[in-house]
Amino acid sequence: MNYRISQRAASLSPSLTLAIDSKAKQMKADGLDVVGFGAGEPDFDTPQHIKDACAKALAEGFTKYTPASGIPELRKAIADKFQRENGLTYKPSQIIVSCGGKHSCYNTILATCQEGDEVIIPAPYWLSYPEMVKLAGAKPVILETTDKTEFKVTPDQLRAAITPRTRLFILNSPSNPTGTVYTPEEVKAIGDVCIEKGVLILSDEIYEHLLYDGAQHKSVASFSPKHQEHTIVVHGFAKAWSMTGWRLGFLAAPEPVAKAIDAIQSHSTSNPTSFAQKGAVAALTGPQDHLKQWLTEFSKRRQYAFQKLNSIPGISCVNAKGAFYLFPNISGTGLKSTEFCARLLEAEKVAAVPGIAFGADDYIRISYATSMANIEKGLERLERFVRSLK
Ligand SMILES: *Cc1c(COP(=O)(O)O)cnc(C)c1O
Repeated sequence: MNYRISQRAASLSPSLTLAIDSKAKQMKADGLDVVGFGAGEPDFDTPQHIKDACAKALAEGFTKYTPASGIPELRKAIADKFQRENGLTYKPSQIIVSCGGKHSCYNTILATCQEGDEVIIPAPYWLSYPEMVKLAGAKPVILETTDKTEFKVTPDQLRAAITPRTRLFILNSPSNPTGTVYTPEEVKAIGDVCIEKGVLILSDEIYEHLLYDGAQHKSVASFSPKHQEHTIVVHGFAKAWSMTGWRLGFLAAPEPVAKAIDAIQSHSTSNPTSFAQKGAVAALTGPQDHLKQWLTEFSKRRQYAFQKLNSIPGISCVNAKGAFYLFPNISGTGLKSTEFCARLLEAEKVAAVPGIAFGADDYIRISYATSMANIEKGLERLERFVRSLK
């Protein structure tokens, strides 16, 4: 049999983060003392009242198909969240609940992009964006940024990259992998360029609630009705409610785009899990006090890791203003990111993600969604490794 793999699938790069992760897990399983900085999820448990709401729904037999785009109760709670927190008015029909924020991104790209289209993605980028664009048959156009500009794209840089083929610009603030947060003024300026050029914006705001040092998040959709018309806001329950395994995300879009995504979803995944959606209602409408505790803890770790990394000769790191990652520059060590991470894991049993996975080979990603004890131990080892290179 000739198992010819479709061009669509064959064009994908396998996930480097998963490769590192599985190697680290194997080493752990072999009894080795591995410190993992690879985590892309909070190390806290889902708050109890959310689990209770889900368990109750399950016990009551809420186990059947729901509308493909989510239960009305949840879509309403999401519309209320946008009104309350972002000053954005959406009808529930403009809200689509999907199987994770990743799925929301994918559906947005699939609904708006096709062969011949270009999608502008700032690097360092979340590693799934370019692959999703390729799956849609469109072309990722990467805009390079460095730590010198805090990994921010300027309006002029964006304007220069836009061609008649540009369909979509992907904005992710707060950012995975860099922790960068655009100021409200910067967000507005980026939005203005997209409006001027007739380009849609996919605004991935999944880290909206994870902010430090007084950083402010403002959705690009919220500056004017025109900004809202040009934007699809993507969000999810994974990060601020620690619900990664629940597979629940959502988006808010202009009516025609929401309608197209509803159709795609109705023929692919159908509805997100019924009883999980009841948990999500509790996440949005219940108490949010867990967040304050998590932020205090995250910020303490971030501050420690930021200072420790900058004390190591050959490493420099700008501080993160959001999310739970640092993205130190390792070019002073003379190594590129893949070799750096492979040798670090080999020599010191510390797992970090090579920046090349995010389109930035002079950096590595350190997740501080792990205990302070692990961070101290892991960074001591990282320092020993870097010093051993001299
Ligand atoms: C975690 C993450 C998502 C969504 O993750 P899901 O588990 O699919 O909800 C989306 N965008 C970015 C940048 C992320 O880091």
